[in-house]
Amino acid sequence: MPAILNADLHCHSVVSDGTLTPEELAARAAANGVELWALTDHDEIGGQHRAIEAAHANGMNYLTGTEISVTFAGETVHIVGLGFDADDPLMQQGLYDTRGGRDRRAMEMAEQLAKVGIHGAYEGALKYVGNPELISRTHFARFLVETGVCRDTPEVFRKYLTEGKPGYVEHRWANLRDAVNWITQAGGMAVIAHPARYNFSANAEYALFTEFKAHGGRGVEVVTGSHTAQEYVKYAAMAKEFGLAASRGSDFHSPDESHTDLGKLPWLPGDLTPVWELMTDRFR
Ligand code: AMP
Ligand code: MN
Ligand code: MN
Ligand code: MN
Repeated sequence: MPAILNADLHCHSVVSDGTLTPEELAARAAANGVELWALTDHDEIGGQHRAIEAAHANGMNYLTGTEISVTFAGETVHIVGLGFDADDPLMQQGLYDTRGGRDRRAMEMAEQLAKVGIHGAYEGALKYVGNPELISRTHFARFLVETGVCRDTPEVFRKYLTEGKPGYVEHRWANLRDAVNWITQAGGMAVIAHPARYNFSANAEYALFTEFKAHGGRGVEVVTGSHTAQEYVKYAAMAKEFGLAASRGSDFHSPDESHTDLGKLPWLPGDLTPVWELMTDRFR
């Protein structure tokens, strides 16, 4: 293990809400110096075999990955799974169930948007969808940018797609215990994704970390494309307090939308245990 490894363990392809194929992502990651890569599509592992092959073709090590949508204390939380068996039946069934209901939710979003004068959003979003089981808010955001309703995707989320806004539809995702179990029983490691992005009180955040750990969760993203430098410091301390290993990932979605490119992140603080040091036997 080199002391410093360029690991990027969080990004999205057309199999969920990214705009690049697994092969395009692998080439981009390698060109940016990534040595250990994981593709972590939302609620879906259909791209894993392609990603493993593409990683090898580009000289990278690979960990299998996914990012599971979970409802915890009334909020959506994302749990990254790494290093699991991509052919595990319980994992596949759990993710299949988690994807269910996205289409109905999308139709309801479109109905609400129509009420504020934005028509054809369901069909419009579908044009951007690579995987019909995985229509997401991101695809709606691309449609609203394309049609000039908003300037960029953050503006769409701010004005339309977040709680209290006209295109937001409440949704019940997987529960925390199940998501952690699917990953763990398939031989993988569960990791709390971008913890600073949730609207939790300090108490609810503490409960999330405590319950996650009790269910067998073992890691937390400290350095991610969606954390500030101050948030690296805060979650490095949380990792130590809870005895969690630390992960690093860009959460790259698209060359046009993502401000952090694959592999272009600060190193993990040196006093943390990187998740990959606990999973060298899971490298592909
Ligand atoms: P969904 O799983 O359909 O609820 O969509 C969630 C996805 O929307 C996330 O994975 C991000 O890719 C994207 N997203 C969420 N919030 C924002 C935001 N404020 N700005 C841009 N993209 C966002
Ligand atoms: Mn996403
Ligand atoms: Mn996420
Ligand atoms: Mn993500």
